[in-house]
Amino acid sequence: MHVFIGVRERRLAGSGLAFIFLTTLLWFLLAKSSWHSGRFLDQAIAGRHFPSDCGVSDDFSTLQAPVIYFVTPTYARREQVAELTRLSHTLMHVPNLVWVLSEDAETCSRLVAEVALRSRLPHVRLARPMPRKYKQDVLHKTKTGYKKKKKEPRGVANRNAALDWIAKNASIEGVVYFGDDDNTYDLRLFDEIRSTQGVSLFPVGLLGERGVSGPVVSDNGSHVIGFTDPWFHDRLFPIDMGGFAVNVELIRTSGARMPFIPGAEEDEFLKALGVPKESMEAKAGNGTLVLVWHTQSVKRPVPKVEPEDVREQTNLTPLLRTLELQGTAVVSNEGGKPLPKCLESHCPTH
Ligand code: UDP
Ligand code: MN
Repeated sequence: MHVFIGVRERRLAGSGLAFIFLTTLLWFLLAKSSWHSGRFLDQAIAGRHFPSDCGVSDDFSTLQAPVIYFVTPTYARREQVAELTRLSHTLMHVPNLVWVLSEDAETCSRLVAEVALRSRLPHVRLARPMPRKYKQDVLHKTKTGYKKKKKEPRGVANRNAALDWIAKNASIEGVVYFGDDDNTYDLRLFDEIRSTQGVSLFPVGLLGERGVSGPVVSDNGSHVIGFTDPWFHDRLFPIDMGGFAVNVELIRTSGARMPFIPGAEEDEFLKALGVPKESMEAKAGNGTLVLVWHTQSVKRPVPKVEPEDVREQTNLTPLLRTLELQGTAVVSNEGGKPLPKCLESHCPTH
């Protein structure tokens, strides 16, 4: 069929083409810019697609050297949402920091993605699980006999995943710090460690009976001459994970990684850097201040809660959904205990 297109129609057809071209261009540009941005992550969250190298935020261009690569190994448990939220609120005060969140899991979780997004920090999300062979109970001698206790190289696989990422991708010079998700950080710590040229050492509070682990520094503050720690155990560098920082360049040149040996993680990693303690830098007022604490929260099993009667239409059904999403409760008819409720003017004691 022959279709006659007049001048007016031709003009319309032309503007139609231009419209299609411009929308396609706009769509392409938006899709491109959203790849690394929140929108991409939102899509990832919605689609529940979490590969092991899960996402990098798109704001690295705002960073200025030296950057702190704050490596947080983390794993799913009831307390995780609270600890990560609290930590994110500390890190949000720190400029020029990349939060490397590395999960002890096969794939990245929605929970960690959401905390990272909400922090608006430049961040990287990774996942690498502890190999199965290390998940075992070990017998420990106690006063009353032998007791089974878990002795696992916790957070090693995921810390190493973070080191691999940094060695390969960290284009801005800076410093690596292992910041566990449950510790407490003074903002002054970040100013101290940022200038680390090689390896720096500083005290960690609330460790062991005496409450501290850290370097012993010579009188004039110029040299690290030893360590104070609750557990020496033949270690060359008896210091807690939170008590040192390392320049990225040294991570790259040494290729140092953490071993899967419980208790030897810090020591072997620091040995592999090839820097004698005398050449390490004492920070935090030459080792006189405590700017990080080894805090630990009480860990409890996840409770089973009975679902609410949906006909009641209160906030409680969506609230239970929140608890479930945050991993702090399992909602189930089987063995779930009902939420205690009081709708009276005086709530009875129970
Ligand atoms: N961690 C982990 N996988 C585990 C246990 C711990 O990734 O199976 C992480 C945890 O989230 C924390 C760090 O490793 O950031 C140290 O673990 P934890 O706080 O349990 O050890 P502690 O402080 O008691 O030595
Ligand atoms: Mn801890």
